[in-house]
Parts: sequence; C-alpha cells; structure tokens
Amino acid sequence: MMFRGANPATVLRRALLRVLAVLWLCGLPVAAQAAASAPPVADLTPCVTPVRPGDNAATLWRDVARFDCTTPQSAFGPGDYWVRITLPPAQLQALDGPPLLTFMPAWQQDARLYLHYRDGSISQQALDNVSLSRFGRIGAHVAIPLDRIAMPPDGVLLRIDGAINASGLLQVPRLQSERQADRQHLTEAVIYAAFAGVAIALLAYNLLMWLAMRERFQVFYCLTLAAMLAYAFSHSGALDMAFPQLGAETRFRFSYFALAGIAASAVAFLIDCIEPGILSRRLRRLGHAACWLVLVTGLAVMLAPDKWAHTIDRLYVASFVPIPVVAVLLAAQAWRRGSRIVRLLVLAWSFPTVMALTRIAHAGNLIGYSLWVEHSAIVALGVEALLSALAMSFRIKRIARERDEARAEERVARRLAEIDPLTGLYNRRALLAGVLGWGSDEDLRLVLIDIDHFKAINDHSGHDTGDDVLREVAAVLAATAEIRATVARLGGEEFALFGPADEIDDALAQSLLDAVRSHPMPHGLRVTVSAGSACGRIGCEADWRALYRRADQALYQAKESGRDRLVLAAPALARAAA
Ligand code: GH3
Ligand code: MG
Ligand code: MG
Repeated sequence: MMFRGANPATVLRRALLRVLAVLWLCGLPVAAQAAASAPPVADLTPCVTPVRPGDNAATLWRDVARFDCTTPQSAFGPGDYWVRITLPPAQLQALDGPPLLTFMPAWQQDARLYLHYRDGSISQQALDNVSLSRFGRIGAHVAIPLDRIAMPPDGVLLRIDGAINASGLLQVPRLQSERQADRQHLTEAVIYAAFAGVAIALLAYNLLMWLAMRERFQVFYCLTLAAMLAYAFSHSGALDMAFPQLGAETRFRFSYFALAGIAASAVAFLIDCIEPGILSRRLRRLGHAACWLVLVTGLAVMLAPDKWAHTIDRLYVASFVPIPVVAVLLAAQAWRRGSRIVRLLVLAWSFPTVMALTRIAHAGNLIGYSLWVEHSAIVALGVEALLSALAMSFRIKRIARERDEARAEERVARRLAEIDPLTGLYNRRALLAGVLGWGSDEDLRLVLIDIDHFKAINDHSGHDTGDDVLREVAAVLAATAEIRATVARLGGEEFALFGPADEIDDALAQSLLDAVRSHPMPHGLRVTVSAGSACGRIGCEADWRALYRRADQALYQAKESGRDRLVLAAPALARAAA
C-alpha cells in the first residue's frame, strides 16, 4: 500500500529528505537556544585607546578617561592600540585555581602585555606573534597565566601594534581557572577532532571512489574536504601549536585562504555534481567566475604585505558576497529544471550558507561575536560534507546505471559485429580475432567446408531456398561440433571449424560430411559438402596464414577429386622435419 505507484527507492529517498528537513528545522531552535544560552561572550570588558607618542603603561593605567569601553573595537580601524582590561577581584576570588587570562587574538604585528598589581607595580611580557603561539589552545584561544607572583594582578594593559582590526582587536577576553580553560580546550578539541575524523574518512573514501570512477565532481568534493581540513587545522589554532615559530599571523592568512578554498571548490562541486544538461552555460560560467574571485582574493590575503592587510581583508569579505548569491541561483535553476540531486545539496548547503551569512554579518559589524558562531561553522561544514556525500551517492548511482546500460549496449553491438546474421554462426572477423588467442604450444586444426554446387541450388530453387540451405548446413555444423572449437561462416557457402586438434579429430571432421549429407534439406534437396583439413601450431599471424593455405589447398583437392569428401593436408614441412 505504502509503495503504491512509486518504486521503493523513490519512497525511501523522499522519506530520507523529509527526515533531514525536519532535523534541520528542529536544529534551528536548538541552535538558537544554544546561542542564547552560551556563556556571556565577554566576561571582561576591554576598553580601547589609540597609541599616542610618549605613552607608557604606568601613566596610561591611571588615565582611565582615555579609554573607550563602548565603541565596537573594529570601529577604530587598523592601527596601534592600548587595550585596558580591569580584573574584578570578585571574579578572581571565585576561580577554583590560579587565574588565566584567555582571549582570541586577532591579526596583528606585535603585542606586549602589562600586568598591573594592587601595589601599583607593573610587570610586562612580550606577546609577539611567536610568543602568543606558545600560549595557544585549541579553539584559537591563548591562555596566559597571571600567577607569576603571589598577588594576582588587578588589571591588564595590552599594547597591540599593527592590528588590522577587521573584526576587533581581541575577542572574548575572560578570566578562567586552569581547570575551566582545560575544559574549554577539551570541548573544542573534541569538536575539531570529530570534524577532522569525519572529513578524513570522507576524504579517504572519496579519493578511492575517484580512482575507480574518475568523475570531476569527486575531485572538487575531495578538494573541499582538504580545504575544510586545512581550515580546521589552522583556524583551531592547531597550526600555531604545531609550528609556533610560524607566528599567529600565518594562521590568519592561512585560514583566510583555506576558507576561500572551501567556498570555491564547493561551488565548483555543486556545478559539476548536478546532472549534466541541467544548468545553463551562462550560470555555470558565473559560478566559476565567483570561485576564481574568492580564490584570487584568498591568495592575495595569503601574500599581501602587512600594510595592505586591512584593505585586502575588506576585499576578501566582499569577494564572498557572490558565493551565496551564485549558489542560490544555481540551486534555483537546477530545482526548476528537475534536478533530483539538488534537493539534497540544497539541504546540505543550507548549513554553511546560514553560517556564511552570519559571518558576513559579523564581519560587517551587523551582529556581535559569539563563541557559538565561531565554532558552529565547523559543525556546519561537517554536516555539509556528510550530506553532500549522500547527494553524491545518488549521482554515483545514476552514473553507475548509465555505465551499466552503455556496457550492455556495447556488448550487444560487439556481438552483432561478430555474428553472421543469416546463420547465427561467428563471422570471419570473429574467427580471425580469436585465432591468436589459442596457446602456441597446442596442436590446432582448421577444417574449411564448402557446399558443393551451391550455385546450382540458387539457380534452380531460388536464392531464398539457398539461404535456407545455408542455415540448415550451419545448424548441422554447430550441432555436430559441440566441442571446444569455433564454427564460423567465412562468407558465401564457405564455413570453417577451428580448434584444438585433439578435439577436432579426423573422425569428427568426417562425421560433419555425413551429417550434412543425411540431413533433411528444403524441398528434399540433396546437399553435400567438401572439406579440407590442416593441422599445426600458431605462434604468429604467418603461421595462421600458412595453416589456412594448406587447408584451402586440401579443400581444393577435395573439390577436384569429385566433391563430398574430406582431404587431410600433409603435415607442414617444418613440423615434419622436427
Ligand atoms: P563448388 O562446388 O565448386 O563450390 O561450386 P559452387 O556453385 O558451390 O561455388 P561457387 O563459388 O560457384 O558459387 C557460390 C555461390 O554462392 C555463388 C553465390 O551467388 C552464392 N552465394 C553467396 N552468398 C550467398 C548467400 O548468402 N545466399 C545465397 N542464397 N547464395 C549465396
Ligand atoms: Mg565456394
Ligand atoms: Mg561451393
């Protein structure tokens, strides 16, 4: 009842799509809830002032009025800044262990940390890009211990030089105990490890699939996964932790480039994965142009000198705007024109598309920063990779079916090319093609058979009767020679029997003649055949030609000496001598 009118695979696919759509819709309120209930994004309030000549930490700490605690950091633009963070004593006391200052550094050239103590003393610490990497944790945070001396500091001054300040000078500054920071580190490590596990498994599997199928969309899918892995590796801060000497700045450049790689290869994948002939050439070109744009700007960020970093960053963000637009146009056209894969792809892509829009909104200062926004990108990419794999499996199933059909057609065509249509026997071409397939160390026999006075049958009983006679003779030969040998019609009223000599012995060859003679023929005709037989080994084409010549001569002798007989050719000279 359930499957009435539709095949089970279609029903299953529709059910799967519905389940995924419901999961997605259910996921939205859960995600919103998660975002709302995420811990306060900034336990501490960073206050900012641009660096002026002659500034020093001691005087600046006292000059509270100079700091702006309300304007969004990114509104200050690129440059050199002081960031002042007061560490509330209540928060320090509430910690279950020695305090750590954790935050996510942004792209900058250099930084220095000044810790201010209640007794007015100040200690300082270099936080250049290399030393920042030393304090790195998974999730791209740094966690700087504040317990150098017995008395914890009551405030922090950070001098940041050469900040590109695209989306702030530093994100989520918090006071955390070692244990809290470890827990966060572990949670984020689990998220990234789960993502990496899924991506590596999909990558390995799809690379193998590509080796077997060689479809271009598989390459783009693998590139997307590779770019996702590269992005996760660098964006998580693992790159800094593995290679601290590269400096934190490299991580930003690399993450930008990897994200551009994800977007470009994913759009290219979308274009190629949709069934051929569905997308218009114009839209495909537009899609590819968007891919190149984002890739080139990604590369520019990777290579740009520091002084251009801010401008290039703006260009980079702008270059991402066409990606969702193009993706929506591609999906809409594919949907309208009946692509079956696009529905799954759209579902898969809705995750990172929403994430991309959120990030663009964040980059444009439309929405605030949150840890959830930061890390849900990686979850969304993981979901997208999985769902895209599912969409791809539908496409692969279709390709496999098309290949099976093409192969079956090819088999039929090849068979038609090898079979004589009148008699159903192999034709000359098939016989010749198989000749060299026999082992050269085996004695082989060729028997050439020719119907006697066939022209007379045609002349007296008509061409159609001639054809019937050809069919009957063919049937007799095929039935009599039910052995490991090839029976072929060479053309006209000439046939051949070819195979191992111990299968086609003299008695069998002779029995063929008897069988034809005694077989009832159309209109009671009496039909006989003459045959010439030769035996030898075949190592090359010349051997075959020699064997054929000897069998043909034997057949000629059979005709000459009165027809309706078998003549055995003398053994070949070379063999006789051997
Ligand atoms: P011999 O005993 O010397 O072999 O004499 P023959 O008449 O059998 O040989 P010949 O080569 O003179 O004639 C062969 C005839 O076979 C001539 C040709 O018209 C006829 N033939 C060739 N192919 C076909 C075919 O497909 N159908 C029919 N009905 N006749 C064919
Ligand atoms: Mg003939
Ligand atoms: Mg003949």
